[in-house]
Amino acid sequence: MGKPLSLYDNYTRSLRVFEPLDPGGEVGLYTCGPTVYDYQHIGNFRTFLFEDVLKRALRWNGYRVRHVMNITDVGHLVSDADTGEDKMEKGSRRTGKTAWEIAALYTEAFLAEMRLLNIEDPTILCRATDHIGEQIAFIAAIEANGFTYRTSDGIYFDTSKQPGYGHLARLDKEGLEAGKRVDLGEKRNPTDFALWKFSPEGEKRQMEWDSPWGRGFPGWHIECSAMAERYLGPWFDIHCGGEDHISVHHTNEIAQTEAKAGTRLANFWMHGYFLLMNDAKMAKSAGGFLRVASLVDEGYDPLAYRYLCLTGHYRSQLNFTWDALAAAQTGLERMRQGFHALPREALAQADAALVERFGDELNDDLNVPRALAVAWEALRGDRPPAVRRATLAKLDEVLGLGLEAWTPKAVEVPDAVRALAEARAAARKAKQWAEADRLRGELATAGWEMEDRADGYALKRK
Ligand code: AMP
Ligand code: ZN
Repeated sequence: MGKPLSLYDNYTRSLRVFEPLDPGGEVGLYTCGPTVYDYQHIGNFRTFLFEDVLKRALRWNGYRVRHVMNITDVGHLVSDADTGEDKMEKGSRRTGKTAWEIAALYTEAFLAEMRLLNIEDPTILCRATDHIGEQIAFIAAIEANGFTYRTSDGIYFDTSKQPGYGHLARLDKEGLEAGKRVDLGEKRNPTDFALWKFSPEGEKRQMEWDSPWGRGFPGWHIECSAMAERYLGPWFDIHCGGEDHISVHHTNEIAQTEAKAGTRLANFWMHGYFLLMNDAKMAKSAGGFLRVASLVDEGYDPLAYRYLCLTGHYRSQLNFTWDALAAAQTGLERMRQGFHALPREALAQADAALVERFGDELNDDLNVPRALAVAWEALRGDRPPAVRRATLAKLDEVLGLGLEAWTPKAVEVPDAVRALAEARAAARKAKQWAEADRLRGELATAGWEMEDRADGYALKRK
């Protein structure tokens, strides 16, 4: 028997043994999805990769997973303080497309890049704009319970009415009150947030709806409380997102659900720590950022990025460098080639001891870097080759590197290079060593290396 699955829960700030709320049933998992006003950067994908590994780890432990992910296509304002423009309307101005068009475009791009990284699709992918009715009903329930007030620009959540507000982030409410900023506007407390925003007077927004309070659009946080409840109920197993969500977005999701249903929404709150670049946070709003497509443009396999993310623990920040990506690509290539050099035998079983050790590392709060080391051991150890292959194939169910599906690409050799190689082979046969060396030099200049073999030769790119 291996170790039970333990996960770090940020709500209780402790490592807890995971027990599903519904024994024998499905695990409910909600992960905050992308805001589709632009492409997702590789930092965002680090969080989605962590969530994908979590989901696979749950399955490794024998659970079925009902995974819900939202698409934020309205209401996420440029500033987390509920001010500034809606990111979607801003994206619309930037691109000259409608807010609806850019939402469709970037949702598709997001899904395509997820698949390049072998990230499984969620069970349910839900758009905020398809759930306006649920969000309005949710706000009405919070209002009926006495947690809201109205300002000239919207309906706000009064955080002072909720004694436990901010527990997830261990917010120091007194400290915040004391330091009240002058720009509080009509908000009563610095931590209050918008549930519904009115469309600006005399202005027609591209995305707006009628509500009991007036025409407008939902605040950013309400969509997750409303859609999580719709698909998983108000009390489910695990809620995830990036570390930036702890202090505002998730804190407010909890506040809303507590005000309506009296639960803290999820039993476990887990967060992926940031990808940094040059030791600074990678952010869309900061302008230049890297996409999965940018890595492909530089000649990298998207799965090399997946491999790179597997080498870091999800609760530590990871600094991206091109050198680290190149090393990850080399590691991935070696693992693929090593795997395919091993024979596949239908009857070969995975090695039970290695599988258990892998599971123990995984169950230790997803210690994937160490689980990856066990995969290397499986590849290189002295067990029978077919067992090594079967073991690695089993471990790859969690690593998701697609080892089985990978096929070595046939190298395309240009005709001129092929002709040089043929000439050199002929020279060698005729024992014209000087000519053979000269031709090897020409091949090298063209960027190719020729390896002599007993049965002929092989060509490799240098
Ligand atoms: P967004 O599209 O901004 O709503 O973000 C999508 C997901 O990516 C959220 O879970 C964020 O917390 C996460 N995220 C944003 N920036 C980073 C980063 N630099 N590294 C890792 N995760 C991030
Ligand atoms: Zn969310």
